[in-house]
Amino acid sequence: LSTADLIEEHRICVCVRKRPLNKKELAIKDLDVITIPSKDVVMVHEPKQKVDLTRFLENQTFRFDYAFDDTSNNEMVYRFTAGPLVETIFEGGMATCFAYGQTGSGKTHTMGGDFSGKNQDCSKGIYALAARDVFLMLKKPKYRKFDLQVYATFFEIYSGKVFDLLNGKMKLKVLEDGKQQVNVVGLREKEVKCKEDVLKLIERGNSCRTSGKTSANAHSSRSHAVFQIILRRNEKMHGKFSLVDLAGNERGADTSSADRQTRLEGAEINKSLLALKECIRALGRNQAHCPFRASKLTQVLRDSFIGENSRTCMIATISPGMTCCENTLNTLRYANRVKEF
Ligand code: ADP
Ligand code: MG
Repeated sequence: LSTADLIEEHRICVCVRKRPLNKKELAIKDLDVITIPSKDVVMVHEPKQKVDLTRFLENQTFRFDYAFDDTSNNEMVYRFTAGPLVETIFEGGMATCFAYGQTGSGKTHTMGGDFSGKNQDCSKGIYALAARDVFLMLKKPKYRKFDLQVYATFFEIYSGKVFDLLNGKMKLKVLEDGKQQVNVVGLREKEVKCKEDVLKLIERGNSCRTSGKTSANAHSSRSHAVFQIILRRNEKMHGKFSLVDLAGNERGADTSSADRQTRLEGAEINKSLLALKECIRALGRNQAHCPFRASKLTQVLRDSFIGENSRTCMIATISPGMTCCENTLNTLRYANRVKEF
């Protein structure tokens, strides 16, 4: 079965991506406790059961639709996750791709691109790769006759509030109408004519996201970023692809923090990640009822969890180090739950 077939069958694809040990981890001689022995298995060597610094007694094994080791690149990850979903939106469906994991595990690297050095390069992130394929697909005779227009939005959800990253972080209201439609009122939808237009928007949104008092990573670890590619046909929505760089899932410490604001933010993040899990599972079960109202994140993504032709993939990103092991296990358990419906 190809991944496209898997998605066809299950509507949901759950993958894991391991990043390499970074300089800091190498400097403190952190151990790599993650092995990916085959293309769909992740093994964690439990530190509790370690006999000495290099040998472990027992492993925990998890199976996913796909497991990417630390030699994989964004293009490979894309090809088996978000890539096949581009067709979904051309066929009039809703697609979502989530990056889920601990802060520092590689969510933004996977979705947004490489922002580690001085040269910010968003051209290799999944946002950009999806945009590239959208413009390739538009040229196909089958879809050219639809005369589709392409639009993009980019917003952030922070502490249960929505901010427009294409409009100076303007705070936006989310309203539900009588027909249960959810609208983010005033959200900027920019028409894009080519891949380069999209890259500019991503850069603009990213710089807007990271501006402000708190350090870039401290802020982005506490907010969900949502980048959407929308296809319209005579103004009417034809399909929508939502690509989501989720807030970091390491929240245990926050919820007992002395700082009230930090505690509230932590609780809000926990709530939205739990709601997300339940909504994806409802989609997997073809369940009529989806508990999307449980958080702002799931509320704004409501369209994506319902309907005949909705597809989702989750990329759970994990750090390889023993120092991150507890968070890594939490990530793997969550991802495992998402695909069990
Ligand atoms: P997150 O968004 O989950 O907090 P980042 O994407 O910012 O994490 O990644 C943290 C650091 O690790 C960044 O410097 C990033 O460039 C690097 N990194 C993440 N994933 C990879 C990878 N697969 N290969 C190489 N470097 C990576
Ligand atoms: Mg990030």
